[in-house]
Amino acid sequence: MHNPEHHKLSLIIPAFNEQEMIETSFITLKKILDEAGIPFELIYVDDGSTDATYQIIELLSQNNKEIVGLSFSKNFGKEAAIFAGLTAASGACAAVMDCDLQHPPELLVSMYQLWEQGYEVVEGVKSSRGRENPFYAAGARLFYLFISHAAGIDMSKASDYKLLDRRAVDALLEMPERTPFFRALSSWIGFKTVAIPFEVQERTSGISKWSARSLTKYAVRNITSFSGAPLQFVTFIGWIMFIFAIILGIHSIVRFVSGTALEGFTTVILLQLIIGSLVMISLGIIGHYLSRIYEEIKARPRYIVRRRCGKDR
Ligand code: UDP
Ligand code: MG
Repeated sequence: MHNPEHHKLSLIIPAFNEQEMIETSFITLKKILDEAGIPFELIYVDDGSTDATYQIIELLSQNNKEIVGLSFSKNFGKEAAIFAGLTAASGACAAVMDCDLQHPPELLVSMYQLWEQGYEVVEGVKSSRGRENPFYAAGARLFYLFISHAAGIDMSKASDYKLLDRRAVDALLEMPERTPFFRALSSWIGFKTVAIPFEVQERTSGISKWSARSLTKYAVRNITSFSGAPLQFVTFIGWIMFIFAIILGIHSIVRFVSGTALEGFTTVILLQLIIGSLVMISLGIIGHYLSRIYEEIKARPRYIVRRRCGKDR
């Protein structure tokens, strides 16, 4: 028999203070998926919103059996919300999508069809980054340069808009790390992958939940959770300084032997300052990794679910 469970799409939607977008996104998505004849569940993960986001999800779930809602005890971040959604997903495949419909929902149908053709990871790839201020764009470029290098794949156009086969979802859920970076991990796991380009849409309602500060934190976190390169950078600087040291050392000895030493107070001060700051920056980088190790070793849960609603919950 044709069992719809074997074709079910679990759509995971992280939502942080998205009260205006819950119902809109539900109506839009339901229409598209119903028309395409795709059996689905919608998993809204309320990431500790302070507005009515969860109340709306709960209300909708009472009349719509496709909706599952989770609510975090506080804001744990989008990555945590994605993983909570993946854990709750019961479908044969799962997709992740933003609540603000900046990820064009019509694309889900093509993604789903690619999955039916046997692809296990269908990645939405940004063909343009939408309208952004140049400062953010430059920051993003730098971030992706780093993370692409670390992951060994071009991540500059990567997004969180993805559809994963059950096998890929299970592989991701087995990752023990406390601070997963979904976008990179879902490429790292391998599997039969295909990319599908999309245009980032304008946000129709509400505002972006990212401040410059939270974006920077997010970037540093993800770089250090995915790559040890900054640590090697410390070694690299160390070697450069060492070469300098040898050259300057020989120079000084020659001057001493030839009796032209003394003076050079400025050089000494400059060297002190440069070396001092380099040592401190290096210690800082090492310290950052140390604190990340500390965090991982405490093995706290990635998130705490406060409430659930929908389907037999
Ligand atoms: N989001 C979240 N937790 C956060 C920040 C954002 O779950 O701490 C969700 C948000 O509700 C949205 C998605 O992540 O569904 C993308 O966020 P946003 O649209 O603010 O980011 P942008 O599109 O500007 O990158
Ligand atoms: Mg957005």
